[in-house]
Amino acid sequence: MDSSGRLSPYSFHLRDTGPDYLLLRVLYCGLDHTDLHQINGELASSTTKYPLVPGHEVVGEVVELGSEVKTFTLGDIVGAGGIIDSCGECNLCNSNLEQYCNHRVWAYNDVYKDGTPTHGGFSSFISIHHRFAVKIPQKLAPEMATPLLCAGVTAYSPLKQFMGSETVFRGGILGLGGVGHLGVMIAKAMGHHVTVISSSDKKKEEALHYLRADDFLVSTNEDEMKRAANSLDYILDTVPAFHSLESYLSLLKPEGKLLIVGAAPQRLQFFASELITGKKAIMGSLLGSIKETEELLNFWVEKGLTTMIEVVKMEYVNEAFERMKRGDVKYRFVLDVAGSNLE
Ligand code: NAP
Ligand code: ZN
Repeated sequence: MDSSGRLSPYSFHLRDTGPDYLLLRVLYCGLDHTDLHQINGELASSTTKYPLVPGHEVVGEVVELGSEVKTFTLGDIVGAGGIIDSCGECNLCNSNLEQYCNHRVWAYNDVYKDGTPTHGGFSSFISIHHRFAVKIPQKLAPEMATPLLCAGVTAYSPLKQFMGSETVFRGGILGLGGVGHLGVMIAKAMGHHVTVISSSDKKKEEALHYLRADDFLVSTNEDEMKRAANSLDYILDTVPAFHSLESYLSLLKPEGKLLIVGAAPQRLQFFASELITGKKAIMGSLLGSIKETEELLNFWVEKGLTTMIEVVKMEYVNEAFERMKRGDVKYRFVLDVAGSNLE
């Protein structure tokens, strides 16, 4: 209800399902760090408007179909991510880059084209344009699929440029949280040599043994960082807080890329010489397209991967966010929305 960061029950009326829209009964919804940034009103890219219904990693059942929708049927289990509509006509929308459309509509803290507010997946129902729904493969349990719809595709989309080549790329995953753990699994499944770069050694055993990372670096250990200089082709940076980029840029080989997906609310910093002297690049990436989300779901099934999640009820949501702030999540909370009492 306000920037205190505490979530509390809230009742609202959803708009009528338009001709191109689906109404989903929400089954599960993931907790992403972006929800936390947004709840706290600290995102640099948007101002939080309260009351806010967060949640943008949604799996639900189609319970109402617009008259123009031909690709889904009632009862389908579908997923939705951070964006639930766009113009559908521009070059970006027509080239599988719809997440960058100027008229994209965010899953919450935004307005539908008719001016009514969007509300996210911490709710019994959500309304989305059918172009932004993906069918969940039958082989994937809905709660396991949930983190793929935002965190997973956020890692997959920028890593895809390093896929399908004979080269064994050496990649770094900076920050082992929701996005990071999926980044490790995706990069390993793409055949890369993967180094986890973490703020402490607390997650080392798990990273090496369960997530099958090849190497583990503690970012606060200067000796370890120096030894690893010039060793990586890319780093996927998932850190949600201020961090100086110089030490990470120095880990990259010449022509290496720092792929920023973490939405730190503060300005990040680096010296131009860090890029110039090694022809290095920094690029950002937002979510992924719907096509990439479908690709990822198939890739996940084909490679036999499993997300590492902790399923909780809605009454635990405030505690879950407190634990996320402390980095105490292995590695994604998923809300059992349909199994919670939302009255
Ligand atoms: P998360 O589960 O909280 O994980 C973030 C990880 O970063 C933590 O587990 C921790 O890993 C590390 N970390 C946290 N605070 C840090 C600090 N002060 N300094 C250094 N490392 C720190 O978060 P998430 O859900 O994965 O999201 C990560 C970020 O990506 C958020 O900013 C989120 O908004 C953003 N995001 C962006 C997109 C996009 O489209 N670009 C999509 C989804 C999320 P270690 O313990 O290993 O250090
Ligand atoms: Zn567009």
